[in-house]
Amino acid sequence: MPPTGTIYDYLVIGGGSGGLASARRAASYGAKVGLIEGSGRLGGTCVNVGCVPKKVMWNTASIAEAIHDAKEYGFPDVGPATFDWNTLKHKRDAYIKRLNGIYERNLEKDHVEYITGMASFISNNSVTLGNGEKIQAKKILIAVGGRPTIPKVPGAELGIDSDRFFDLEYQPKRVAVVGTGYIGVELAGIFHALGSKVTIFSRTKEILRSFDPIIKDTLRDEMTNIGIDIVPNSRVTSLAKADDKAITLSYTSNNNDATAEYDTVLWAIGREPLLEKLAIDNAGVTTNKEGYVVADDYQETVVPGVYALGDVCGIEQLTPVAIAAGRRLSDRLFGGEQFKNSKLDYRNVPSVIFSHPTAGAVGLTEEQAKKEYGAENLNVYVSKFSGMYNAMKTHKTPSAFKLICAGPEEKVVGIHIVGQGSDEMLQGFAVALKMGATKADFDSTVALHPTSAEELVTLTKANLKKD
Ligand SMILES: Cc1cc2nc3c(=O)[nH]c(=O)nc-3n(C[C@H](O)[C@H](O)[C@H](O)COP(=O)(O)OP(=O)(O)OC[C@H]3O[C@@H](n4cnc5c(N)ncnc54)[C@H](O)[C@@H]3O)c2cc1C
Repeated sequence: MPPTGTIYDYLVIGGGSGGLASARRAASYGAKVGLIEGSGRLGGTCVNVGCVPKKVMWNTASIAEAIHDAKEYGFPDVGPATFDWNTLKHKRDAYIKRLNGIYERNLEKDHVEYITGMASFISNNSVTLGNGEKIQAKKILIAVGGRPTIPKVPGAELGIDSDRFFDLEYQPKRVAVVGTGYIGVELAGIFHALGSKVTIFSRTKEILRSFDPIIKDTLRDEMTNIGIDIVPNSRVTSLAKADDKAITLSYTSNNNDATAEYDTVLWAIGREPLLEKLAIDNAGVTTNKEGYVVADDYQETVVPGVYALGDVCGIEQLTPVAIAAGRRLSDRLFGGEQFKNSKLDYRNVPSVIFSHPTAGAVGLTEEQAKKEYGAENLNVYVSKFSGMYNAMKTHKTPSAFKLICAGPEEKVVGIHIVGQGSDEMLQGFAVALKMGATKADFDSTVALHPTSAEELVTLTKANLKKD
């Protein structure tokens, strides 16, 4: 606890991606900064139950796939290999713990006061940690993030969410993943690659609803091809304990009722803001109809001096977005005249899916581009191919790229790629799109060969998509 009477220049609530970045940047300008974290560990969702442990699991899954492919590449003695989930889990946990410590030391180094406890607003410039003490600040940032949504169906508590995925001590044999956003698809892919039998329940006939069809259709077909069951147009109606181990999942699909048994059921139906402890009403902060905190382009809530960013605002819920918004805000608030208009540009934020194969997108989907420019003003180039990694393999993992170009100058307004390496490939192309590159700029760039990425700079009229 800070000494009684302390008034911070900037008090950050939430030690996750956005809060940490904003607090450290504000302190770098000499502001007196306090940061409150309620979970007892720094780093937030990304470090503890999101990007970081997920990527460790995706790497593990990729190694399993490489072992599987090894024979076809001339290694007769490699695989099948056994996988020790429990050992990896504890090694992963230790790695995360080290990161928690690094984050704590970074705060100390940057002179940000780290306060542990769950914060609740008392007023627009003060909070309490529930111990009767009041912490005051001239400016307060809400960066409390979100948590997974659990549906209100009987027996829902028998399922786990993405947080508890990382608590699993042993690998379940039969897994149901309910929900087909990127988190559901990624965790389903990890389970499958490591040897679990996976069924995905989708509310619609699609997966990854918000992505361009080239990504969602290619990945749906590939997931089906490699043996993941997708139950379309389905609604899970209840979970019940069948015996000591199995969970009976009841569902309707295309108006038929059915049941199936699983060892683990994973809810991946969406996320919601983590606000109930925060008592934002006491500050006068408002939320939208989905419950997310309302903040303008400059991260200002309706209450002067109270700001919000990251997942709690529900826009582009990604770590680099929260970090960038947090740094821009602190630049503006504490960085002086040169940063007086500093704010994050939320357009053209790239994102990747750590699926099998990976996928990535930046800019408009074809549907969005049609709405913005009119179908007649678009040229959409598509290339579907099998990357060279498949040359020695029986199973050909697909790649599919789409470039959406607008206007007579063919400005590139959307890039959607799926296929091995897409995750690493997209960042550089996102720079080009953000700079306003045209198809001619892509064409005039000499290809890198032999790569999959070269397909994006060698698209010709033959690749023009006709509806
Ligand atoms: C499974 C999964 C995988 C993901 N993978 C990726 C990925 O690959 N790439 C990517 O960019 N993004 C990924 N994300 C999203 C990313 O983790 C979030 O967008 C990011 O963490 C949001 O940062 P934030 O600062 O808004 O909130 P968070 O990082 O969630 O931090 C909020 C912090 O506030 C604390 N808190 C909450 N209430 C209070 C309170 N009242 N008082 C004090 N402290 C409080 C919480 O304990 C938490 O530490 C993933 C998310 C999940 C769930």
